[in-house]
Amino acid sequence: MLTTELIETKFLTARELVSPEACPALVLNADFTPLSYYPLSLWSWQTAVKAAFLERVDIIAEYDREIASPSMRMKLPSVIALRQYVRPASHPAFTRFNLFLRDRFTCQYCSVPGGELTFDHVIPRAYGGRTTWENVTTACAPCNLKKGGRTPAEAHMQLISRPEQPSTHQLQANGRAFPPHYCHETWRDYLYWDVELQA
Ligand SMILES: [Zn+2]
Repeated sequence: MLTTELIETKFLTARELVSPEACPALVLNADFTPLSYYPLSLWSWQTAVKAAFLERVDIIAEYDREIASPSMRMKLPSVIALRQYVRPASHPAFTRFNLFLRDRFTCQYCSVPGGELTFDHVIPRAYGGRTTWENVTTACAPCNLKKGGRTPAEAHMQLISRPEQPSTHQLQANGRAFPPHYCHETWRDYLYWDVELQA
């Protein structure tokens, strides 16, 4: 039985692996949607080939590049689909990455995206504020410094959105706003089709 945790550990994490030379395979769930948009669910070609041999995935599309052994040749898979549907966790893990993703990598005080992002305890820890989805928000370094150990009201600063626990669906939707740096042509059918149709 495949679990989401097991699969996530196989994702390519290093950016350099997501390159044409690395021939990563886009991993789709059994319903042909990507397991994850951001980071995009990709496996190294070695993992993809192994999973294909173990009959855990179907090969949907291929690279031109081949690998060969004395007994067989095969094209490297560019898109694979899990045979068994993996149900996404309904509540994403409370991690730094997911928190930034919830807030779309945007400071929740001045709405400037990117830059040097930090975490801010809305109710400061000194006031008993806890480290939870509901009390931690994304703040740029200058806003964090300006707010200091005060509440937003004390600092005369306003949040652009109230921090809440996101659903997996919400995070996936946010992740779609960040296309990968490299996108093989065979992946396009399974990614961002709404965007493609508008273009
Ligand atoms: Zn800011």
